[in-house]
Amino acid sequence: MARTSQMVQLTDSFERKMDYLRISVTDRCNFRCQYCMPEDIKFENPELLLSLEEMLTFAEACLQLGVTKVRVTGGEPLVRKGVVGFIGQLKAMGFEDVTMTTNGFLLKENLEGLVDAGLDRVNISIDTLQPEKFQFITRRNHFQKVWDAIMAALETPLSPVKLNAVAMRGVNDDEIVDMARLTQEHALHVRFIELMPLNGDTDGVRFRKLFISGKEILDRARTELGDLKPVEKDDPAAPADEFKFDGAPGNFGVITPVSEPFCARCSRLRLTADGKIHPCLLTDLDVPVMDAIRSEEPITEIHKVLWETARVKPAAGLTLPEESRNRTMSQIGG
Ligand code: SAM
Ligand code: SF4
Repeated sequence: MARTSQMVQLTDSFERKMDYLRISVTDRCNFRCQYCMPEDIKFENPELLLSLEEMLTFAEACLQLGVTKVRVTGGEPLVRKGVVGFIGQLKAMGFEDVTMTTNGFLLKENLEGLVDAGLDRVNISIDTLQPEKFQFITRRNHFQKVWDAIMAALETPLSPVKLNAVAMRGVNDDEIVDMARLTQEHALHVRFIELMPLNGDTDGVRFRKLFISGKEILDRARTELGDLKPVEKDDPAAPADEFKFDGAPGNFGVITPVSEPFCARCSRLRLTADGKIHPCLLTDLDVPVMDAIRSEEPITEIHKVLWETARVKPAAGLTLPEESRNRTMSQIGG
């Protein structure tokens, strides 16, 4: 649906435009990354989750209030049946930018469909280039399949491809240089994300042991590989600080939600598969929207909930590690 000339832009109490929606299409995943979910996680009963059609209704209401970008995520989005068609429908609805974050396991066989559906970009999560370590982190022995998907994606219009690696001291910080070198060989934008204390890290001990800052990562890459020049952001709200080695086809960067939270320029809202809006990743706040979506006049009712969400979106979510530690990323619409 096209936006009308009378459109009022969804804006929060601190004058931040809310124009970026992340939709978690499922809480399920085929991996069990240590920092994200326990091996024995209990998923929601699928019957209690929003259908993809209901998520489209929510997206349409957002589009009418000036949300222009949407990222499809999870859990693992590609385990949700129908997600490729869902992406096509988001694109047909009029979103300017439709992207997806995936662990890559089911990506290769879906690449053609995703490109045909109009997906604009893909982010693939991969924390290590070493198969054994990959198995340790994800609790699954799927390194090769993910690597093959990354290489295949580079051959499609989805290139350049963004790679996300969660940085963990003593786990993958010995690979900072190897990961940075990838950007010299391929059109890959490799970004280390600072670890966030989620997934039942109740005393923050694990977090403090593993945490490594974005600044240290950049310093170590510079020391080993020489000069890194800053890359100007296309979108000032983008969370990654990216850099380039001379002549490299890709960029190397960091995302620093812990050491330098980007709250002041946050334009995001997150819809979870169980029908809640999370206006802030770093607090426990959520606003239920399931009833509005299932009401007689869903668009009108969703708009009311969106404005309420904009009203309560906090200026900053600096509650780490005390308040966010019991949730997983997939429960918040990572
Ligand atoms: N399953 C998909 C994937 O892994 O790309 C999409 C969902 S996943 C929750 C989205 C992103 O959140 C991934 O890049 C993952 O590495 C990141 N993530 C999950 N838990 C995290 C944590 N505790 N700290 C930092 N990033 C985390
Ligand atoms: Fe699954 Fe992504 Fe979480 Fe890993 S980070 S367990 S791939 S949802």
